[in-house]
Amino acid sequence: MTDLTPLLARIADKRDDLIALTQDLIRIPTLNPPGENYRDICDYLDRRLSKSGFTTELIRAHGTPGDCEKYPRWNIVAHKSGGSAGDCVHFNSHTDVVEVGNGWTTDPFGGDLIDGKIYGRGACDMKGGLATSIIAAEAFIETFPDFAGAIEISGTADEESGGYGGVAYLAEKGYFNPAKVQHVIIPEPLNKDRVCLGHRGGWWAEIETFGEIAHGSMPFLGDCAVRHMGAVLDKFETDLFPAMATRRTDMPVVPEGARQSTMNINSIHGGQKEQNDDFNGLPAHCVPDSCRIVIDRRFLDEEPLDQVRGEVTALLDGLKSSRDKFSYDLREINHVLPSMTDRNAPIAATLAGQIEKVLGKPAEFVASPGTYDQKHIDRIGKLKNCVAYGPGILELAHKPDEYIGVDDMMVSAQIMARSLAALLLPTDD
Ligand SMILES: [Zn+2]
Repeated sequence: MTDLTPLLARIADKRDDLIALTQDLIRIPTLNPPGENYRDICDYLDRRLSKSGFTTELIRAHGTPGDCEKYPRWNIVAHKSGGSAGDCVHFNSHTDVVEVGNGWTTDPFGGDLIDGKIYGRGACDMKGGLATSIIAAEAFIETFPDFAGAIEISGTADEESGGYGGVAYLAEKGYFNPAKVQHVIIPEPLNKDRVCLGHRGGWWAEIETFGEIAHGSMPFLGDCAVRHMGAVLDKFETDLFPAMATRRTDMPVVPEGARQSTMNINSIHGGQKEQNDDFNGLPAHCVPDSCRIVIDRRFLDEEPLDQVRGEVTALLDGLKSSRDKFSYDLREINHVLPSMTDRNAPIAATLAGQIEKVLGKPAEFVASPGTYDQKHIDRIGKLKNCVAYGPGILELAHKPDEYIGVDDMMVSAQIMARSLAALLLPTDD
């Protein structure tokens, strides 16, 4: 068995480098939307990884949602081959971050280091994870330059808006072809002791009910679209939500409340358009002839998408026959299928084994309530040996004063580097 002491010593030496790298990444404000500074962060990663011996490629996702001359969707894939043939281990991180929002007490793009924590938008989701994977890979390559196989690191766009200009595009272009890449780790902030096997599915749709406009003093001369929508919501309360609450999944979804089917009603709007804030007039009196809601239905590996769609349309069709003058439109906005990697898959088992060695307790296997880029690697790339593993506290993602703990990153860097040793050093366990 290979002695890993020099590898772990090298990681320990890189603590300051890890901090500086994380800070540098946070200081490039890659806000999405609209998709700012994607080229800058790719150029930064290009310089860094080229210096470490990687061959790099910058890829623009032409024609994907949001891609334009002002906000081009840039991605980077860096490849480093070892001394002999073997598997390729790919670390994929998204480089975009969500809007800042209110409530910050630190500079969201300052990367301040306070009491062992680095603060900033994207610190935990997921520039800290990206930096950790780079440090782990560099330490491994420096210690074992003749390793078998290859290591890849990608920085991709648009995960926060569906990943179509990032991982989905790369998967379509063959970058996750299982003949070329055998293991994928996505360093999303799932905590240093957990392996995330996949995520639930999502179905987003807009439902509109129709009525007839009339004077508000004589509503009986028109037909109120909002009351029709009220009937829809009532059906959701009496039929749909109770039915969904009975469906439990075998997926280890955290938190516990997401281990069943869920649905959020994202928005509702009926009647007159809302006026601008500076409008101080009074509303006109009209019966609304349209009401719209957007639903966000999250579903389980055990639920086929057709069933998810079907139970909503059956409920609406039922109202059509039971309710006078009820008519509706349903427009699908998007859907994402669930993804679940087997816990005995090589990458899941390897990471879990190294978590136990480093932390002295068994790894926890979890699944995510929301989706992330694994869906594209699974469904488009047809690569099943993919999990999320990275430092950081999931609950801090998208919050004010988001941070990443330096100690947590150091532990995860060890676990990632030891996993590389287990997969790419033929004599190791
Ligand atoms: Zn993320």
